[in-house]
Amino acid sequence: MGALLSIDAAIDSVLATAGPLPAEAVRLLDALGRAAAADIVSDEQVPSFDNSAMDGYAVRGEELAAGRAQYRVTVEIPAGSYVAQPVGSGEAAKIMTGAPLPPGVDTVVPVELTGQAGDTLMVNEAVRPGANVRRAGEDVAVGDVVLPRGARLGPAEIGLLASVGVDPVPVTRRPRVAILATGSELVRVGDPVGPGQIRNSNSYTAYGQVLAAGAEPVLLGIARDDLEETRRLIAVALEHDVVLTSGGVSVGEFDFVKQVQEELGVERRFWGVATKPGKPLAFGTRGRTLVFGVPGNPVAAMVSFELYIRPALLALQGRRDLYRPYLTATAAEPVRRTKERTEARRCRLVRDGGGWTFTTTGPQGSGILRSMALADGLAFVPPGHPGADAGTTFMVLLLEGSSEERPPYP
Ligand code: AMP
Ligand code: MG
Repeated sequence: MGALLSIDAAIDSVLATAGPLPAEAVRLLDALGRAAAADIVSDEQVPSFDNSAMDGYAVRGEELAAGRAQYRVTVEIPAGSYVAQPVGSGEAAKIMTGAPLPPGVDTVVPVELTGQAGDTLMVNEAVRPGANVRRAGEDVAVGDVVLPRGARLGPAEIGLLASVGVDPVPVTRRPRVAILATGSELVRVGDPVGPGQIRNSNSYTAYGQVLAAGAEPVLLGIARDDLEETRRLIAVALEHDVVLTSGGVSVGEFDFVKQVQEELGVERRFWGVATKPGKPLAFGTRGRTLVFGVPGNPVAAMVSFELYIRPALLALQGRRDLYRPYLTATAAEPVRRTKERTEARRCRLVRDGGGWTFTTTGPQGSGILRSMALADGLAFVPPGHPGADAGTTFMVLLLEGSSEERPPYP
């Protein structure tokens, strides 16, 4: 392993290779979590007609302003109906929320502000002219970009597209991510565990992380630490948009992953990042395929995914919010010193007055998945840090959400 890259340099190297995949059209109902492949322009206006924002009475605003309190109700307009007949001077239309305003009136007096005297409608409290009317086009005008290219389609975005009649919707193709666990010690989760063996958990965490990043996981199982088997399975993996292997990238005698990648034509971009956990991360490309070899230790694998692979999967989808949100938080306990690598420590955040404090979730060994399961953030301690008392602040990366701003990694 040569000089170790900084986190930023490693992210830059990865993102330089990850442009958006081609577009495809999907049914709007199937678009949750996908990214818009183009600016989406509305050819309709919303609302499409002036309509009432309240149940009440539509009158002429100028008459209200002039102090008129008595009106004759000439028509009733429920939602879904349309009245072309103008409402005249001294007249009111009884109107329901969402119903179109008839010609001649421009103001709605809510029913609560009115009363009845025989056949006459009494306005007990005037409203300003134009009140309680939703104007045609006030939400969306014809030609508006309702969603920019790269926008993530959540429930609100999907509803917005439905409201302007966009279905199907152009989205970026999901990256297909081949997931391969390597290691002769690994057994499948349902199989008995013999002496010296452990269950393959990395494929499960990777599967979840890939899905949560909007990409499509493809499980290729386990490769034993055998050159031939590793070669055969990595060759299959290379037929995908992204290869995600775990294990076999350290300097052990049976760590074949890098060698096999190179034999199969993967161009090495880097090997080794100055982070703990996650140092022996190997990254390369073959054609347009991104090839990640993350370390085998379960937390190292997960943290490597968070820092480098997740942004790449989002960039492949054309997203702009490639990063996790972060905040500045105060250590609730003394902070141990670091050596030459930046350390990402699993922690839990607690609200404290106007700010946040964090507590680490237990032993930080790179194989201890439990402390990852308990964590909602990663606290970053810079390299060469002498250690600190409780009360010192650090950058904490959240393990949920997305942001366009890259966190200030130390
Ligand atoms: P390696 O990077 O191959 O040296 O593996 C480092 C450590 O991670 C070893 O203790 C492995 O047993 C463990 N490990 C490797 N792959 C997996 C996996 N798929 N699931 C759980 N632990 C693993
Ligand atoms: Mg191994």
